[in-house]
Amino acid sequence: MVDAWLEIRLDLDVAVANSLPHKVIDVALNLAHVSARIESEEYRQLGAIRTRCPEAFGGWHIRRKYSAKDIREAKLFEVTPKSFEPAGEDCGTDYDYSAACSVCETPRRLSGPLTLDLRRAPRRVGLACTIAEDEIVVSEHALRELISENCLGFDVEPAQHKSNVVPPMDLRRVASGRALLRQALSLGLTQNQGSFHRWLNSDPQHSLFDAAWAEWTALSEQKARGLPIPRWYRLIVTSSPVDIAPETRIGNHILDSIHPWQPCPCKRTLGLNLLSRLALRGWDGADVCQTRQRIGCRRGLLIPKSLLLLSARARTALLRAGCKSLKWEIPSLVA
Ligand SMILES: [Zn+2]
Repeated sequence: MVDAWLEIRLDLDVAVANSLPHKVIDVALNLAHVSARIESEEYRQLGAIRTRCPEAFGGWHIRRKYSAKDIREAKLFEVTPKSFEPAGEDCGTDYDYSAACSVCETPRRLSGPLTLDLRRAPRRVGLACTIAEDEIVVSEHALRELISENCLGFDVEPAQHKSNVVPPMDLRRVASGRALLRQALSLGLTQNQGSFHRWLNSDPQHSLFDAAWAEWTALSEQKARGLPIPRWYRLIVTSSPVDIAPETRIGNHILDSIHPWQPCPCKRTLGLNLLSRLALRGWDGADVCQTRQRIGCRRGLLIPKSLLLLSARARTALLRAGCKSLKWEIPSLVA
C-alpha cells in the first residue's frame, strides 16, 4: 500500500470553521491549503464538506510516497513532463482535426512541424510538454542518453522554433551536413524517416551533427540576432499502446462520493482526472509507450492526453541526463 495524501486548496473560513489543520495561502483571497492522508478522518471530513459546499474547493492533486523498494522493483513508470507555455497552436503549429471526435477533438494530427517557442522550454528538465499536454518534446541531451541506453519504442523529429530567426537546419547547405547525408545514404537512410534523427544523435555521428549545427547556426546568424535556439525534438511514440485497466478510478473530483467513469461518446477519452493509481494492461516491455485511452477534456488550448509511460531503463537514462522537475508515479500492472 502506497502512502498518499490529498493536497487541496479551500476557502480559509471553511477550514477554520471545521477545525481542519491548514496553512494560510492568502488572507486577501481567503485561501487555505489542507494536506490530508487518503482515507484519514480529515479526508472523510473534506468529502462531507464538499457534499455541502463544493464551491469552497480549489485546485488539488494527490501526492504519493513510494518506498525505495517500490522504486527499485518498478518496471514501468508514468511520467508527467514539465509543462510550459505557450501551446503549439499559439506558435503556428497546425493540426488536422478531420479524423477527430467532435466532442474531445482527439485524435488530431500535425499538418506540419511542431512549432513552439523553444526559448520558453524549461532547459533543465529534459522532457517537457506544452500546456496542451499532447505536445511532448525531449531535449537533445536527454535524447542522447535514451539512445545510449538503447531505449526503444520512439522516434523523434526536430521541433521548430516559432520565429524563423534560425530556420530549420538544411544539412545540404553545410559541409558537415553533406558528409552526414553521404553516410546516411550509404546506410539506406533518408531525411524524412523518423529514425533518421535518432541515427543523427547516436554515437559516433552526433559529433559531426554538432559540427553541422554550429556551421548552420553561424550561417544563419549572419542574418539573425539573439541567443542560440536550444535543440528540442518532438517525441513520437511508436510502440504498441497500453490499456488503462478498469481498476483505475477516473472522474471529475477526488472528493466526489461517486467516481463514475465519464467516457466521451468516442470512448477514447475516459474522463477528466485520474483519481487513483493507474492500473495498466498489455504492456509489451517497450521503453517508451503511451496509454491507448486519454484523460482530460478539450477546453481552449487544452486537449485530452495519452499518459506517457517509461521503463525503468528509460527513467534511469533521464535521471542520468540530469532531468529535473518530472513527476513520477508507479502504475500497477494487471493481468
Ligand atoms: Zn471523444
